[in-house]
Amino acid sequence: MIRRILHKLFLPCSEATLLMEKRNAQSISSRENRMLSMHLMICKWCRMYNEKLAILDKVFKKKFSEQKTEINESEIQDFKNKMIDKLNF
Ligand SMILES: [Zn+2]
Repeated sequence: MIRRILHKLFLPCSEATLLMEKRNAQSISSRENRMLSMHLMICKWCRMYNEKLAILDKVFKKKFSEQKTEINESEIQDFKNKMIDKLNF
């Protein structure tokens, strides 16, 4: 009962999830951050959503960094090949 009132008072779930997405994509204001953490304290569903989002975020970031190293390695390899070419001449 109190939770329902607090939901209305602080932040509805739809707003909370929006803020979480926004926080991942860009930074949110300290006021928004405060409202979001208040909401996460009282709302179990949004807490679960937040955890899922954090896991997804980690997976994406890991994938991205793996891709990045692949690109870097091929660039290095390319550079090495060019050096070898130059040394052969
Ligand atoms: Zn919620």
